[in-house]
Amino acid sequence: MAGRQTIFRGAQIYDGSGEAPWMGDVEIAGERIISLTPPGGIAAATDAIEVDAAGLALAPGFIDAHTHDDRIVLDKPDMLPKISQGVTSVVVGNCGISLAPVTFEADPPAPMNLLGGREAYQFPRFAAYADALRQSAPAVNVAALIGHSALRLAAMRDVGRKANSAELAEMCALADAAMNEGATGFSTGLFYPTNAAADEDEVSTIAARFARQGGIYATHMRDEFDRVLDSIDETVRTANAANIPVVVSHHKCAGPANWGRTFETLPRLEAAAAQHRVNLDVYPYAAGSTNLRMDLVTSDYPIRISWSKPHPEMTGRELSSIAAEWGCDLHEAARRLDPAGAIYFQMDEADVRRVMSSRLAMIGSDGLPHDIHPHPRLWGTFPRVIGHYARDQKLFPVETAIHKMTGLTARVFNLADRGLLKPGAFADLVLFDPATIIDKATYDVPQALSLGIARVYVNGRLAFTPEQGVIARAGRLIGGRNNVHGE
Ligand SMILES: [Zn+2]
Repeated sequence: MAGRQTIFRGAQIYDGSGEAPWMGDVEIAGERIISLTPPGGIAAATDAIEVDAAGLALAPGFIDAHTHDDRIVLDKPDMLPKISQGVTSVVVGNCGISLAPVTFEADPPAPMNLLGGREAYQFPRFAAYADALRQSAPAVNVAALIGHSALRLAAMRDVGRKANSAELAEMCALADAAMNEGATGFSTGLFYPTNAAADEDEVSTIAARFARQGGIYATHMRDEFDRVLDSIDETVRTANAANIPVVVSHHKCAGPANWGRTFETLPRLEAAAAQHRVNLDVYPYAAGSTNLRMDLVTSDYPIRISWSKPHPEMTGRELSSIAAEWGCDLHEAARRLDPAGAIYFQMDEADVRRVMSSRLAMIGSDGLPHDIHPHPRLWGTFPRVIGHYARDQKLFPVETAIHKMTGLTARVFNLADRGLLKPGAFADLVLFDPATIIDKATYDVPQALSLGIARVYVNGRLAFTPEQGVIARAGRLIGGRNNVHGE
């Protein structure tokens, strides 16, 4: 048997399937789970590490279905904002934005600058990114999507139009190579200027290449405001044409005029899911965050600055108060702050709850790890769903919350042997106190450790405790062909 055993005694076991918890013992050795039994079912062994889990819950490590952690897993591989929440795997490359396969001679355009400047983009092939990941050895596992904006900027001189056939062929070749080299799938950000000129044909042609190798498709849709239903229809048509499972990213109905419209969007998604593999991801907050964009600047909802290149001193402040101080209107203030990032309080809490409650919904933080004053979702998403929404607000049972961040996510992204506690699965584990688990990050103090996480294991290694911080960096590239050729 590979490696020393660890035996957890008397844990409340949430196995990730969505079933109710049960009391039991769990044994792991090497990288894998060996057995789960009723209490006392595992014999003591002289050199085994015994963990008294009385009063604690044991679950599969959480999988963050939607991240922009492409660079942070290389630059700050201890991944404290995520592993401290119990996250053991992250899906990177969302919203059409990925670090590979593209390089730049000047600073990259928005939204690619969410991951950094020109120096961040060093990976003309996905294989080079996979190598860098192996070198950096992050604390969490990484499943990687390839962004359509990255492909377009690699293959096209002018991304303001639809790709011609030569450019499309180049993007398809890059897609094939990336899947061969270990990517998990494809993402678009049709809302963004670097991606918006792509039509359904362009998207589905590329998505079909990912589909051929078992990939998945995630999309930040063209419109999450007035035309959100049209965007859902476009998403479903595109995914159908490409014959690829699809995830609607950070589903929302944005802007006060659209509040309440999840009563329309969720049934539309459910109907599509009856015909085709459709899921969605969602973060547990009524504010979104991205670049500061003129078309999102409005007095309809508060806007907070998360970073600004020309005016870093305004970080964390409200746009309206900056405009008042400068004696100008909101748009002029935004122009002066640009390039910048912002937090937009553009959603209705009731919509957020309905989306989270959908059986199609996985939890994804969408955290932005390079922001100076980030949206609190970066540090708080997972404990917030369990502690605030499931335990305190009783929006759904705790086992449902955990399923949405483990078993469901592993199934949707085809992450083999992850997301469930069962013999033979990888020992990605989180031990937490179900009575106290809660997020502490807020819009005012966005970088704060959550409470109630006791121990986190990645690939069988103890990786985090609140007392010791990050102990081990045992993460690796997962998903795609890594499922077959892993280790
Ligand atoms: Zn997005």
